[in-house]
Amino acid sequence: MTNTPFQAGEDFAAAMDARDPLAHFRERFCLPKTKTGDDCIYLCGHSLGLQPKTASSYLEQELRDWAQLGVEGHFHAKDPWIPYHRLFTQQTAALVGAQPVEVVVMNSLTVNLHLMMASFYRPTTERHKILVERGAFPSDQYAVKSQIRFHGLDPASSLLELTPREGESCMRDEDIESLIDREGDSIALILLGGVNYATGQAFDMAGITKAGQRKGCVVGFDLAHAAGNIPLRLHDWGPDFAAWCSYKYLNGGPGCVAGCFIHQRHARAWELPRFAGWWGHDEQTRFQMGPDFHPISGAEGWQLSNLPILAVAALRASMEIFSEAGLEPLRAKSVTLTGYMEFLLGQPASPKFSIITPREQERRGAQLSIRLPREGHKLCNRLAAEGIIGDWREPDTFRVAAVPLYNSYQDVYRFVRRFSAALE
Ligand SMILES: *Cc1c(COP(=O)(O)O)cnc(C)c1O
Repeated sequence: MTNTPFQAGEDFAAAMDARDPLAHFRERFCLPKTKTGDDCIYLCGHSLGLQPKTASSYLEQELRDWAQLGVEGHFHAKDPWIPYHRLFTQQTAALVGAQPVEVVVMNSLTVNLHLMMASFYRPTTERHKILVERGAFPSDQYAVKSQIRFHGLDPASSLLELTPREGESCMRDEDIESLIDREGDSIALILLGGVNYATGQAFDMAGITKAGQRKGCVVGFDLAHAAGNIPLRLHDWGPDFAAWCSYKYLNGGPGCVAGCFIHQRHARAWELPRFAGWWGHDEQTRFQMGPDFHPISGAEGWQLSNLPILAVAALRASMEIFSEAGLEPLRAKSVTLTGYMEFLLGQPASPKFSIITPREQERRGAQLSIRLPREGHKLCNRLAAEGIIGDWREPDTFRVAAVPLYNSYQDVYRFVRRFSAALE
């Protein structure tokens, strides 16, 4: 207790909220309601972020322009549809620490992972493996295994899985690097989550990239749980590619268009194989409708299709809010909020659950993963019925995230009080 800045009483939470410079952003989001009309305690931004109140106006504008302009909207909408993806370039680059040429919004996350592997997973006889985390998100597992089979290889010999030490839940950074040192000569691609979806562990992406590149491996990251959650410096860290979805911490709405990063050193790598589509074609000549593909340089050259405007319009609302709030203040609040939740969950320490997320702030984002006994699932359902929204991941993990844009210290306080009561 001596070193912690936190105190156990509810008045502490109220005082923290009163002096939180970001507290007013909560008002900018639609908070789901309980049956009795109160705000839910929504701790599920790691799964689906909340709707900004301004999202509908962005969407309505596009519906209006479509109604009034028809096809002319491509050029004459208030925000013309042909270059619409560029409305996101600066903010996306800032969000992931990239140069503008390195990022684009397109497709969905799993599609982008496949597109990136089409270009960057190029197995040879000696170097054919993909390194992933054991228990990676299922879609990622299916994607990498199908890519391995697509090349006529067998996941049994070409998929390499990082595994925590016996009795541990998270990977140690030094174990990841020593595995890469040991096996690197046979690894074609390292593809890890920036933040693991189940444990909430944030990986040392700079260190992993360096270790991989020392051994000649291609390095990519799935940033589904990292984008909008933890600080990212992709350009400087130097992975070859990254992809993320926009509906978790980025609040773009269910199934929103995803993001993709391709490092600048590949911006004009015309020799790389890629699955092409007309939206990746040089804009000057795209509408000459010629038979040969001439890609735009940079990440935009990987686009396939014209952007689903209605599916991406709402993302503008959230990106505006991120810019306004600032990434550094958001991270500072996130670290404190999550630290506060961890502190309260330990008051007093309970043998009935454990937190498997790393304790160090640089090894996690907003999410805490709480390991519960098997009947834990029922407990989560009971909490959900009371309007306390986290989520359950089989076999034993309750995930909760206090999101600095819309969660308060009092949310965290009330959650822990109800959670502790439900455990008893
Ligand atoms: C959420 C998530 C996905 C979801 O993929 P979609 O293509 O957006 O449906 C994939 N991978 C990871 C790691 C995720 O967290």
